[in-house]
Amino acid sequence: MASSKKVTGSNKGVGFAIVRALCKQFDGDVILTSRDEGRGQEALKALTGEGLKPKFHQLDIDDPASIDRLRDFLKGQYGGLDILVNNAGIAFKADSMATFAEQAVVTVGTNFGSTLNASEKLFPLLRPHARVSNVSSFVSNMAIKKCSEPLQTRFKDPKLTIEGLKQLMAEFVSLAKEGKHEAAGWPNSAYGVSKIGVTVMSMVHQRCLDAEKREDIVVNACDPGYVDTDMSSHKGSKTIDQGAETPVMAALVPPNTTSPRGMFLSENQVTVWG
Ligand code: NDP
Repeated sequence: MASSKKVTGSNKGVGFAIVRALCKQFDGDVILTSRDEGRGQEALKALTGEGLKPKFHQLDIDDPASIDRLRDFLKGQYGGLDILVNNAGIAFKADSMATFAEQAVVTVGTNFGSTLNASEKLFPLLRPHARVSNVSSFVSNMAIKKCSEPLQTRFKDPKLTIEGLKQLMAEFVSLAKEGKHEAAGWPNSAYGVSKIGVTVMSMVHQRCLDAEKREDIVVNACDPGYVDTDMSSHKGSKTIDQGAETPVMAALVPPNTTSPRGMFLSENQVTVWG
């Protein structure tokens, strides 16, 4: 069956540029996904206008049934998946009226919880040599440094499991609801903590896949840099195509590479995290 590559949240911004780059650089179908069918079709039209040929499938990572439909489509149509780019993400604006508790629930829910759900439902489809590129952020690197020493130790524990990581994220949300997260050693950034979750999830997933002896599957977390998109209120200095470079590099790690595997990448290279 044909090879397939899928990018979450790719109707605009960095995800859109990742689809554009993958269409240009690789054989096989690239699947642009969007939670909104109309926005997805518009994006598809724009790329088709550039002479590229992405496919489209609806995907809302917050909706488990939507993830199931995509999984079934990929299984039926392609029999597997060669590249998964987990790009979809949200951030409240600095002037948001939402309470910190609400921001913590929603941001950790989507950026960490839903990305984890999508990954775990799609991982069985990964073929040997598949690559998973998780779009995290430089903000995760700032946030981990603001965590207390005991929290940093827990996040960096090489024996940390996905269950343990979920527990850590749940602790943050629970403390945020009571307004006690800072006193407990957490940074005052729901987005930052959600992206710590994405970075550490990538490291833990690499260890899990290695332990399961899945053949040469590589997972990395990556930082696109500060990019001119709706999320950054167009204050970012990079174009979306520049922002796509590191996630695309993580998506294209050559076969049987020993590094990067389960690492944090920024500016097209492995970067010390935390
Ligand atoms: P945008 O807000 O421009 O795009 C985010 C994309 O994610 C949109 O396509 C959005 O869809 C989609 N999305 C949001 N929630 C869901 C969901 N539940 N299911 C499916 N898709 C969803 O942001 P960016 O392009 O800037 O961000 C892309 C990634 O890069 C994010 O993970 C972000 O955290 C990260 N990042 C961005 C930085 C920047 O400077 N811009 C810096 C560091 C990291 P819709 O159009 O429907 O809202």
